[in-house]
Amino acid sequence: MGPPGSGKGIRARIIGKMFDIPVITAGDMLREAAFNETEEGLVAEGYMNRGELVPDNIVITIVEERLSRPDVGKGFVLDGFPRSMNQAIALDRILKRLDAKIDYVVAVSARPEAIVVRLSLRRICSKCGAIYHLKDIMPKVEGVCDECGGKLIQREDDKEDIIRRRFEVYERQTFPIIERYSTVGKLKETSGELEIEEIPSVLEKLLSPRS
Ligand code: AMP
Repeated sequence: MGPPGSGKGIRARIIGKMFDIPVITAGDMLREAAFNETEEGLVAEGYMNRGELVPDNIVITIVEERLSRPDVGKGFVLDGFPRSMNQAIALDRILKRLDAKIDYVVAVSARPEAIVVRLSLRRICSKCGAIYHLKDIMPKVEGVCDECGGKLIQREDDKEDIIRRRFEVYERQTFPIIERYSTVGKLKETSGELEIEEIPSVLEKLLSPRS
């Protein structure tokens, strides 16, 4: 969990590789639904472009469907879900049904000034969602994804006024639910302003059984 541009997506992917488990990214699934012009996707797109949260029922349905596939049996990383109290409550219900539990909640923090700069330079792969940064994580070939050859694009909502709106939404709707996890000792806090190379070792330490 963390504000937009704090680097939660990159951390989720690193954790997924570390434990060899799938990464379930709410934003990617919503963008995919919008791209495929499904009914929910088209509704979601309007909210996303304004920097607001997509209605809970749409997100919960998509995540629940994804969590019913067999590849989550060994564990999974949730990226960008839950983001509201209703979603947190829905997640409890889904986990109960799966007989699964949350091992860690990683909370990433970053200042709004750092976020605006970072997101304006962010590019994502339109095909696989891989994340690039025009200063820190350059693709080998300009405009092309290293991993799948897809086209790199700037997200509609990575524009300054929308970034600020997303930050406000985070503080108002998502930040309060982090507290829910602090009381049960699952919460691991980390800075969103680390150098890229530092992230894997910081995560290794944070998620080691002894930490
Ligand atoms: P992200 O890719 O995580 O930055 O999410 C991009 C946008 O997708 C957000 O600004 C929301 O509009 C929407 N979104 C992603 N995850 C959720 C969620 N769990 N609940 C509601 N909206 C979401």
